Amino acid sequence: GGDAAALERGMAVVAGLASKGALTGGEEDGAVDAIVTMDPGIALLAKYYADSDPLKFARHAARNAKMAQARVGTSVTALGDAPPADAPLDAVVIGGGLAGLSAALTLLDRGGRVAILEKMGHLGGNSAWASSGVNAVDFDNNPTNDSIEAFTADVLKGAQTGANPLVAVLTEGATDSLKWLRERLSEHLKLNLVGQMGGHSHPRTHRPTEGLAGSGMIFALEKQLNKYLAEKHPRLIMMKWTRATKIVMKSDGSGVEGVAWQKVKGGSESGLLQTNNVVIATGGFASDYSDDSLLRKHRPDVLGYATTNTKGTTGDGHKMLMEVGAKMLDLEDVQVHPTGFVNPADPENMVKTLCAEILRGEGGLLVNRWGKRFVNELGTRDHVTGEMLKNDKESLRFAIVLNKAQAERAFTHMGLYQKKGLIQKKETVEELHKWEFWDRSVSVKTLTASFKEYDQQAKKGADPYGKKFFHNTPVSGAGPYYVGVVTPVIHYCMGGVAISPGGDVLREDGSAIPGLFAAGGGIGGLHGK
Ligand SMILES: Cc1cc2nc3c(=O)[nH]c(=O)nc-3n(C[C@H](O)[C@H](O)[C@H](O)COP(=O)(O)OP(=O)(O)OC[C@H]3O[C@@H](n4cnc5c(N)ncnc54)[C@H](O)[C@@H]3O)c2cc1C
Repeated sequence: GGDAAALERGMAVVAGLASKGALTGGEEDGAVDAIVTMDPGIALLAKYYADSDPLKFARHAARNAKMAQARVGTSVTALGDAPPADAPLDAVVIGGGLAGLSAALTLLDRGGRVAILEKMGHLGGNSAWASSGVNAVDFDNNPTNDSIEAFTADVLKGAQTGANPLVAVLTEGATDSLKWLRERLSEHLKLNLVGQMGGHSHPRTHRPTEGLAGSGMIFALEKQLNKYLAEKHPRLIMMKWTRATKIVMKSDGSGVEGVAWQKVKGGSESGLLQTNNVVIATGGFASDYSDDSLLRKHRPDVLGYATTNTKGTTGDGHKMLMEVGAKMLDLEDVQVHPTGFVNPADPENMVKTLCAEILRGEGGLLVNRWGKRFVNELGTRDHVTGEMLKNDKESLRFAIVLNKAQAERAFTHMGLYQKKGLIQKKETVEELHKWEFWDRSVSVKTLTASFKEYDQQAKKGADPYGKKFFHNTPVSGAGPYYVGVVTPVIHYCMGGVAISPGGDVLREDGSAIPGLFAAGGGIGGLHGK
């Protein structure tokens, strides 16, 4: 409130001075940059100087921006001057997902000059496909008395890794990260719904009221970055369809010299971006079926599965980092998710849409080709996948069946899945029986009996597979039913590059490689098994 008003006043003062020609181009740009970063220090300056001595305010603000920029990196371009095209950058961010874009926006907000390399034609990566939300303890709205201790205990239980300094970075840092997302992206993002997901002892998964979490965050980030691109002398270079191919180290190995890149579409140019700081934010390798795939090397047994990950998730960051001596952790720990949708229009496609947990969370049933349940749908991902393999290894195709109440509870997801043709509506059990998915031995009676049996177990609060929570029953009785075909899919690479709690990439001996940082899905040592 107060700060924003002071900053607005400061901006008006700068605009007034500039229009009278009282500021040089450099001073004007510097002061504007300082104000748009919304730094509380600049707000303070504005409060005390903007009205009493506007010129002094503008000059102090410009000087402050220069200092902030100098703190970001060693190779600072003079503010207000158009940077020469070959000037070294303060940082190169490789990967345009949530990790990369957040890092880039933060660097820009602090006055840095940054390039983002994204090998696809659009930003977002897997982040744009994430739909459940962001996990964080929100102390501003905490009706269940959630705590960092409870979050930490949940993470440690899930990861089974034992004490680990990265866990605290995640569980403690997430509160500030959520705050940053809400405040910095407030123009286009309202993260104001919260839900309780599997593995969490409190509701702490935050998502927007409208749309899905990941695409909402990427959209809002891109909007803010576009503002930087639209500046008179942009400090941001955005290179899409451009693959980073190599991290170039100084000849004495003391640090980073730059990043080699190659256009993958719209030309065949290649080049080198000079910088002393590189942020690797290329995600995992769960979509890499190539000859030099890390999956092929570390988990050849999962290569037959399709993946929920975007085509760009091919471990490029890992491979580049291994070339410069970075340490990798747990590359064999690859998570297979039990429910990827088989699209009836394109059943063999190796990239599949994730059938989100929420469908089973709201009570959706998993049923085999013979019309029978076979597993606790709310078991861990590993457990459900294991039971699928035992039950029907041959086809590895299963039905997910929801009744009306369950479908309504998951309405955002269901709408999207229906639009994509992944979920079909069957008005009655008779219509459901005509679905081509079932084995020929299945009759209306088989399906009715399965659903009735489930309803009886729900009444007792226990089933033979160990399910304890039975939401939105009964399933038998009147339709409609909502159904889709699911199969196990590669979903997440738990392993990745070893980093310090500050994000420095580590060598085998545990020392940091100066100027190399990693963030997001490509890091290892946090997720456990
Ligand atoms: C379907 C799905 C649902 C998910 N749901 C959730 C959820 O609800 N909550 C949650 O917390 N997590 C979820 N996850 C996991 C989450 O999406 C990832 O952990 C997160 O997106 C990782 O972010 P990132 O920025 O590191 O990687 P990404 O978002 O994958 O971004 C990496 C980017 O780097 C680019 N890239 C790769 N190599 C190069 C190169 N050589 N040069 C240039 N660019 C390159 C890629 O094209 C990509 O755009 C989900 C994952 C999937 C697949």
